[in-house]
Amino acid sequence: MLIRRALVLPGGGDWRARRADILIRDGRIAAVGDGLEDPEVIQGSSLLAVPGFINAHYHSPLSLLRGTADGLSHPAFMWQNQADTAGRSAHEVYVSALLGGVEMLASGTTAAIDHFPEQGFALEHVDAVARAYRELGMRAAVALRVFDEAYDDIVPPGGLPAGFPDPLKPAPLADTMALVEEAVKRHDGGLLRVFPAPSNPSRCSDALLVACEELARRRHLGVHTHLLETEVQTRIARSRYGTTMVKHMDRLGLLSPRLSCAHTIWIDEDDIGLLAKRGATAVHNPESNLKVGAGFMPLPAMRRRGLRVALGTDGASTNDNLVLHEAMRLAVILHRPNEERSSWARAEDALDMATAGGAAALQCAGSLGRIAPGQSADIVLYDLTGARWTPCNDAAQQLVFAENGDSVRTVLVAGRVVVDGGRVVSVDVDALLREARGMLAGIRSRNGALQRAVKALL
Ligand SMILES: [Zn+2]
Repeated sequence: MLIRRALVLPGGGDWRARRADILIRDGRIAAVGDGLEDPEVIQGSSLLAVPGFINAHYHSPLSLLRGTADGLSHPAFMWQNQADTAGRSAHEVYVSALLGGVEMLASGTTAAIDHFPEQGFALEHVDAVARAYRELGMRAAVALRVFDEAYDDIVPPGGLPAGFPDPLKPAPLADTMALVEEAVKRHDGGLLRVFPAPSNPSRCSDALLVACEELARRRHLGVHTHLLETEVQTRIARSRYGTTMVKHMDRLGLLSPRLSCAHTIWIDEDDIGLLAKRGATAVHNPESNLKVGAGFMPLPAMRRRGLRVALGTDGASTNDNLVLHEAMRLAVILHRPNEERSSWARAEDALDMATAGGAAALQCAGSLGRIAPGQSADIVLYDLTGARWTPCNDAAQQLVFAENGDSVRTVLVAGRVVVDGGRVVSVDVDALLREARGMLAGIRSRNGALQRAVKALL
């Protein structure tokens, strides 16, 4: 396939637009240049070609939960999420993953790290979420969210009330790791990766954390986790480990280029330097952090210390959209009032975070996030004929500060067209939406006792 004479933003730190042909062969970009030929042509003269964005932190089970968590603090929204996700069938897992995937693809996100699910799970749930991404034709890491200890950071002072039907019951470590190993064996490969993904280090024993890292090293996987999202998590780390969470993780050997950490808000400059030195990635979720009042990730200090940063939307109960354009825009403007203008992050920094940063978190740093020969053909084509792009003064700036995903016309993942004419074509979207419409109501009526217990708790 050939994309002819598109305006191209190549990425990899180079965000100056230029006209070029893009030749695609076997899912990869074969050449970028002038006068290339192929029988199958997309006319690109009114299109902007951009490397697909990577949403490096989100939770597919929450895609049914838009509009359910306004005014809720971090612990409150966490409990509401449990009441809305506990006991889901494999089919509900599948539908929720499709729903999120459709929104992401249609707004220019071609890959995601899905920190999945909310509680304990069985293989049939992993099979279901894997099937969703395969059918969507979307690149994804299913980051299996494991824990073997209590969620102390969200338990109210004085503990949970007697008889509370807590769905966050830890499973034995050996069972959890056997499940993750089997899921990796079944599904890791091609567009789909499977990562071990501690829910949060403080919700895991040291043995589980070490087992996750050991598996990742052996099977060349990433490790994904929530890290220091709330202030109470820093206090728990101090009292449990006698040092910071990051230093404790370093003692266990967890800090490496395999590790990506969502939020990373309550962290000091020393530990930022340590994460940077070990090659880990922080994942900035500015909308989620603001909505639940968690805090401001110290992006300026991370940039000073050379810590790689990726971007995420987080789940749809804390955002409530999965549009990476909004995260890009907010990430770079959020810190400006408190920073010298000379050190402000700019549009091209946001684009680097959404592409190269995400590719590193996905463990695809060498093959993803640029429009260049040899790279995976994950390409988004934006229609430049609308008001938002007229006149097109600076493609990179307008992509970050003007665009919201609505101008996405065509999306390719590994060379396959999954969005055409602005519509996802890899799955039957109308049928999906019909099915998803009543799904949360059904789950809530089934989870009546937990719903009532959580309401009493909040
Ligand atoms: Zn999250």
